[in-house]
Amino acid sequence: MKVIFHPRFYEVYASDPAAAPGRMEPMVKAVEKEFDFIEPGPASERDLERVHGRQHIQNVKRDPLVYEIGLLAAGGAILSAEMAFDGQPAFGLIRPPGHHASPHSCWGFCYFNNIAIAIKKLLSEEKIKSALILDFDLHYGDGTANTFSGSKTVSYFHPEGTRREGFLEEVQRCLQIERPYDIIAISAGFDRHEEDWGGLLKTEDYLTIGKRAREASIERCQGRRFGVLEGGYNHSVLGRNVRSFLQGFRD
Ligand SMILES: [Zn+2]
Repeated sequence: MKVIFHPRFYEVYASDPAAAPGRMEPMVKAVEKEFDFIEPGPASERDLERVHGRQHIQNVKRDPLVYEIGLLAAGGAILSAEMAFDGQPAFGLIRPPGHHASPHSCWGFCYFNNIAIAIKKLLSEEKIKSALILDFDLHYGDGTANTFSGSKTVSYFHPEGTRREGFLEEVQRCLQIERPYDIIAISAGFDRHEEDWGGLLKTEDYLTIGKRAREASIERCQGRRFGVLEGGYNHSVLGRNVRSFLQGFRD
């Protein structure tokens, strides 16, 4: 399994917690010995336009630094999805996150919807006909849900729960939907951890989620699966949480 990462993700492009200095370093450090890294190129404007309106793209462009890093994050999601489609699971260790970016607006530290852009690209190239998006971030990915609202082929799930066991059961239920899917895409936010904003999950729970997603992908869609980073703000636990997820998600 490959980790998709660009050194420019270290840059502090904004003043929000997702862009905070020192956030990416512990994650890179925790996984670089176990996983090969691949550098993505930027997404094209055409890639953005499959999800976002021109006005929204112009609005983001007004901050050239955010725009540049945003294109690389979207490019990282696309590369992860393409590798997954070709049979190699991948994880986009990217920022800014994307799941609060809707077609015509954004909030919550997001600018472009990385995972939606990646899925739309595979759909437009007719590589896949359907997809399941599982978002285990603490926050509901309204941008992703808006992008695919009414879609009969792309299902978006955001499990909820106030107990760990219940949450993990909910994850499993999402993966077992009857509707067929050609790829699993994970919006991996780590802010539901017990030492992060959500105060719920233990580090080992991310291993469980990774394993269940892996198993479902093998059973349902030839092992095709990728994930991208969304939230997660406690720098002192992010590294081990991401590593735990990847250890379950890998082959
Ligand atoms: Zn979040």
